[in-house]
Amino acid sequence: MDLTYSAEDEAFRARLRAWLEVAVPEHGPPPPAGDWMARRGYDTAWQRKLHDAGYAGIAWPKAFGGQGLPVTQQLVYLEEYARADAPYIGVCFVGMMHAGPTLIAEGTDEQRAHHLPRILRGETIWCQGFSEPEAGSDLASLTTRAVREGDEYVVNGQKIWSTRAQVADWCELLVRTDPGASKHRGITWLILDMHQPGVEVRPMRTIDGESHFCEVFLTDARVPVTNRVGEENDGWRVTNVTLRFERGTAFAQHIITMRSQLRDLVALASEVPLPGGGNAWDDPALRSEGGRLEANIEGLWRVTQRGITESEATGLPAPTGSAVKLRFSELTQELNELAVKTLGRLAVGGARTGAIDGAEAVRAYLWSLQYTIAAGTSQIQRNLVAERILGMPRSA
Ligand SMILES: Cc1cc2nc3c(=O)[nH]c(=O)nc-3n(C[C@H](O)[C@H](O)[C@H](O)COP(=O)(O)OP(=O)(O)OC[C@H]3O[C@@H](n4cnc5c(N)ncnc54)[C@H](O)[C@@H]3O)c2cc1C
Repeated sequence: MDLTYSAEDEAFRARLRAWLEVAVPEHGPPPPAGDWMARRGYDTAWQRKLHDAGYAGIAWPKAFGGQGLPVTQQLVYLEEYARADAPYIGVCFVGMMHAGPTLIAEGTDEQRAHHLPRILRGETIWCQGFSEPEAGSDLASLTTRAVREGDEYVVNGQKIWSTRAQVADWCELLVRTDPGASKHRGITWLILDMHQPGVEVRPMRTIDGESHFCEVFLTDARVPVTNRVGEENDGWRVTNVTLRFERGTAFAQHIITMRSQLRDLVALASEVPLPGGGNAWDDPALRSEGGRLEANIEGLWRVTQRGITESEATGLPAPTGSAVKLRFSELTQELNELAVKTLGRLAVGGARTGAIDGAEAVRAYLWSLQYTIAAGTSQIQRNLVAERILGMPRSA
């Protein structure tokens, strides 16, 4: 792997940087937390701007409307995006990062022609309907049932933790089509239209006061057979494609953003006065912790770069994605915890003075707790690292 940037890569960087320097401030700050319709408007308008400027789907093949950038330019893109503090992908995450890529890998020509351009232009939003109340880590034990009636599947069951389902148009839905088969064999991957009778979305409130995810109740919801991705009962294989995108390269943007978060934390520490004089950055323990995090973030970014280059070679993210997701979850929690510790009482009181926003630090810390659960818990990632990377015996 040669990650030296060529003159062409640097020219791409300069063009992108110039565009971001104008487009990011023009787009303005996100709407207030909790207003999900406004958030949808904000995120999709940004996605449309990326599309119109030729920056949507940097890793998607050109044949499917993406930019098909060489891997070095994908990395430059991530670096510049983080540097410019450009808007978080937000409600476009599922469509751009794993539903679209799954359709590219496994969808029919009709499915790709219909959905991919709309995802790229930010016109349609996707959510994920995998987990159920009794099927999380053990996803293959899901029980949402789909029965075929002519050219349609009729779906009944319940999904849970569906992120931003309250603003979604489509859902990547896992259903059981053969209850008699062993649990991994009777599953099918469907594209569910969220705007139909029989789909009821109930937002759930989380510890930070927001409703990031929802329960989805399905009562005789209908899915045309043409909306099936892969064969009937072959959904577990397709699911693994989706999960490899979700755990593999989807977090790359978050990982590189940790660099600027650490830089912001160091700047913030010098604004926090200590009771005996001086500021928090004078504390050798904080400096040492900052240095340790810096080294770990850089190390993780290198492993991420390796994952991205491997996925370019094979068309699918490598199993090292589980190790990357595991380490990212831990580091982002350590980083946010350090921010709260650095602010001390200022965080507890939710104070806002100058650059210090105690309430935001607490919100970010609480939100970071979900990373060791979402997209597969840390225990499950450890199992995958043991089995698929280290070649250890499978757990029972
Ligand atoms: C912020 C967030 C967003 C999410 N978004 C979505 C979404 O959009 N769509 C969706 O479908 N799901 C989503 N999820 C659900 C997520 O995938 C599940 O929460 C996760 O897979 C864990 O399942 P569970 O909550 O049922 O916990 P369980 O599977 O019940 O696990 C409970 C505990 O047991 C441990 N455990 C379970 N099995 C094993 C094992 N074999 N070995 C070792 N330890 C084990 C787990 O690590 C965990 O600590 C989201 C979750 C979060 C937190």
